[in-house]
Amino acid sequence: MSLAEEFQGVRVRAPGKINVFLAVGALQSDGYHELATTFQAVSLFEDVVATLSDDFTISVTGSVDVSGVPADETNLALQAAQLLATETGYEGGVHLDIRKEVPVAGGMGGGSADAAAALVACDALWGTDLSSQELHRLAAQLGADVPFALKGGTAVGTRRGDELSAALAHGRFEWVIVPNPVGLSTPAVYREVDRHRGEHQEALGEVSATPSVDAGVLQALRAGDARLLADVIRNDLQAATLRLRPDLADVLEFGETSGALAGLVSGSGPTVAFLVEDTTKADELRRVLMSAGHEAIHVYGPVHGARIV
Ligand code: ATP
Repeated sequence: MSLAEEFQGVRVRAPGKINVFLAVGALQSDGYHELATTFQAVSLFEDVVATLSDDFTISVTGSVDVSGVPADETNLALQAAQLLATETGYEGGVHLDIRKEVPVAGGMGGGSADAAAALVACDALWGTDLSSQELHRLAAQLGADVPFALKGGTAVGTRRGDELSAALAHGRFEWVIVPNPVGLSTPAVYREVDRHRGEHQEALGEVSATPSVDAGVLQALRAGDARLLADVIRNDLQAATLRLRPDLADVLEFGETSGALAGLVSGSGPTVAFLVEDTTKADELRRVLMSAGHEAIHVYGPVHGARIV
């Protein structure tokens, strides 16, 4: 029997994301903010291999530093498997083997991609056969970014980012991302947004509780026009991220003066994403960034969501 025939598991690949646009509404009484975001799934992937087991166990490796990733039941992928078992009454367990490419705590939704991949992998492995709506419902319980990792492509997310509608995007957008070895905590970034808004209420004016995505973003995506998109990309978390990590402002400025059309912090950071005109420009920018001592990776989007490979 060949190795391939012996393999009894299911392998699922799910993408990381860049928030091309992220507007953050005013703080609500439940402590959350309404978001209006446009996600693009990009070609950095998490692979999750699920194999049958009596228990729920996990191992994590990757091309990125995985030392901050828990290998116990606090791992979002294992929580996804447990949630699926509970919801479907499945009585066995699973071993999840995760291989990560998405920077950890980098604002690119790596943990969410693992959770989405684990849902799809366990659903196939156990034969629980949920509909995509049911998977979406479980994904939203696990985290606001998990539904998008299931769906992939380019999409608008509202409420907490989990209410998705597809956004038409033509062609391919080229990005150069600069990961950072020191991750940022998403709650800490939101706390800094609230602190700053509270302190500068008068200057900032009233912040809408229900933000929306700028029409220009959707137009640029539909047109497949990177130059147009460069004029409208925005991240309301960026100023807070830069206050917490002033070093990132230098990275942004360096990329923007070295050939990028525009740059922004991805999600809650610290990964910085530069939009470039084409693959040649991507390669040039990647080289310039690397010769200045930065890690730089050329990725493109949109790509597919979590699926069996
Ligand atoms: P987001 O943009 O969705 O807020 P992120 O991309 O900034 O998230 P992740 O890499 O998803 O960050 O991880 C954030 C934290 O979640 C990690 O520091 C880690 O402690 C915890 N975590 C739990 N499960 C995972 C997982 N499968 N992969 C990575 N981190 C995980």
